[in-house]
Amino acid sequence: MSGTFTVGAQDVLLVVDVQNDFCPGGALAVPDGDQVVPVINALAGKFAHVVLTQDWHPAGHHSFTTSHPGTKPFDTVEVSYGPQIMWPDHCVQGTRGAAFRDDLLTDRAELVLRKGYHREIDSYSAFYENDRKTHTGLAGYLRERGFKRVFATGLAFDFCVRYSAEDAHREGFESIVIEDACRSIDLNGSVADTQALFKKLGIRCIKASEIGA
Ligand SMILES: [Zn+2]
Repeated sequence: MSGTFTVGAQDVLLVVDVQNDFCPGGALAVPDGDQVVPVINALAGKFAHVVLTQDWHPAGHHSFTTSHPGTKPFDTVEVSYGPQIMWPDHCVQGTRGAAFRDDLLTDRAELVLRKGYHREIDSYSAFYENDRKTHTGLAGYLRERGFKRVFATGLAFDFCVRYSAEDAHREGFESIVIEDACRSIDLNGSVADTQALFKKLGIRCIKASEIGA
């Protein structure tokens, strides 16, 4: 099936964290993460509006194992806002790992939203940091620009895409995930949890081929 969704002036393509560190060879590689790039590049040609997010941590960020001696990657630690997964150091501001993939077409992006820059709070979502209270400003930006539908893509499906899509819905946008423009980490059943959550909230998962030319 193709052309199910005709995209227009009130639709935005949200491209989550397509950065070197989340792709093979990076510090926190998502399996086959690089394979989202051609899919997203083709989609970006169909949308009038494209927003990119960029995970952008200061050195010593509290989501890093190196900030919690004795922990190892993927452990969970209790921090001020609740449980936080420990990640290998990644996407440190200004490093090559934090840069977008060289093959990602970024010229048409109208906004690059950086997140995760508060040392003590992680931010999976493009809308709220992990305390689930601190806004990134994206909801206000999208509302002021009159957008109604958010089509989420990128890395990783079961973390930053998941929370971004959930929060787009929470903020009153129609939230749609383009599943073949995402790849997953799949930690402790996180993919199944994400799919169940999307189903519960009515967030549709579609294929890139369902976006009309
Ligand atoms: Zn991060």
